[in-house]
Amino acid sequence: MSKTKKFGFYVHLPFCIKKCHYCDFLSFSQWEENLVNLYVGRLVTEILNLNNSHMVLDTIYFGGGTPSSIPPYFIKKIVESIEKHFDIAKDAERTIELNPATGLQSSIAQYKEMGFNRVSVGLQSAENHLLTLLGRAHLYEDFLRTYEMLSEEGFQNLSVDVMYGLPEQSLSDLVRTIKAVTDLENIKHISAYSLILENNTVLAQRVEKGQLVLPTEEDERKAHYLLREELMNKGFAQYEISNYAQPGYESRHNSGYWRLKPYYGVGLGAASFVDDVRYQTETSMHAYLNEGVTPIRKAERHPSTQELMEDYMMLGLRMTEGIHIEKFREKFLIGLDEVFGKKINGLIEKGFLQLKDKRLFLTEKGQDFENYVNLTLMSSKGETE
Ligand code: SF4
Repeated sequence: MSKTKKFGFYVHLPFCIKKCHYCDFLSFSQWEENLVNLYVGRLVTEILNLNNSHMVLDTIYFGGGTPSSIPPYFIKKIVESIEKHFDIAKDAERTIELNPATGLQSSIAQYKEMGFNRVSVGLQSAENHLLTLLGRAHLYEDFLRTYEMLSEEGFQNLSVDVMYGLPEQSLSDLVRTIKAVTDLENIKHISAYSLILENNTVLAQRVEKGQLVLPTEEDERKAHYLLREELMNKGFAQYEISNYAQPGYESRHNSGYWRLKPYYGVGLGAASFVDDVRYQTETSMHAYLNEGVTPIRKAERHPSTQELMEDYMMLGLRMTEGIHIEKFREKFLIGLDEVFGKKINGLIEKGFLQLKDKRLFLTEKGQDFENYVNLTLMSSKGETE
């Protein structure tokens, strides 16, 4: 009999109330309830058709889009279908993303009843001038109200998204944002991302026209260092390149991605990783709603063992804990040094990687040049160039 495996479960809800100026995610800002109804119906079909044998879900994550922008009874329908079809660990981490513009007390109370025990709030900045520049649908005051409601409903495990490297964002703006979120006791986790300017976004157009100026790479790095230092001073440890948590509050769901744990992703364009194969669900809404009996899931990539080892390295090195040499051997039945030996040594000599207590991890310099480290490790056959 095969062993029970722990799985992560991701639900993609691509509906927002407004398109942010920097966003190129697969999400819709104009929709009617009828579309959501059809979408959730397909999603439930997709869930009920997944193989559920020999697995237990230990993390569930509702993301998007903005899950909180749709009425909570849709969320409930999805939760019920997951609960009906899968075994779920008693202590499963259950997260829902929430936009401060959409948090209603009654919805938040219902999320609690549905079993969510973690909420990820998209704040981005505590400065209203930056929220306007980003085209966010909320102000800082909305975030504070949302925080109060979440706390009143007993949510004590909150995560907040923060952005840096923004046009017109001074270092003191960033410090004020960090102070604003770390002063709130139920915020236990912070995801901090630098702005990536995506083509065809409002922000990219404004930069092209010279209306906005992006910070230099050096300024962005300064902001990153400052953010890390400020968060550490407030008791948040960096456990991944872009993620910080108080002890014991690291995101179990995202850690699963970085450790190559299997997961299902359902909904438009969602990725899955099952039995070492990467899948992606249909990315066209029309096709997702209309084609076939069940929504289409394509095997996108059957990675070779070499590719899996490279994925394991690249994702694992994102975590400050890094790669455990023994765990690598347990998983792939071969030593890390036999696969990547000379490349690793070269990266250690150049100060990008460090080996300590049988763990291999990025140094601070390595974090700054993560892409270079990844490129060096890719397609490695243990040779140096
Ligand atoms: S809320 Fe998130 S997904 Fe929706 S438009 Fe803004 S950034 Fe994109």
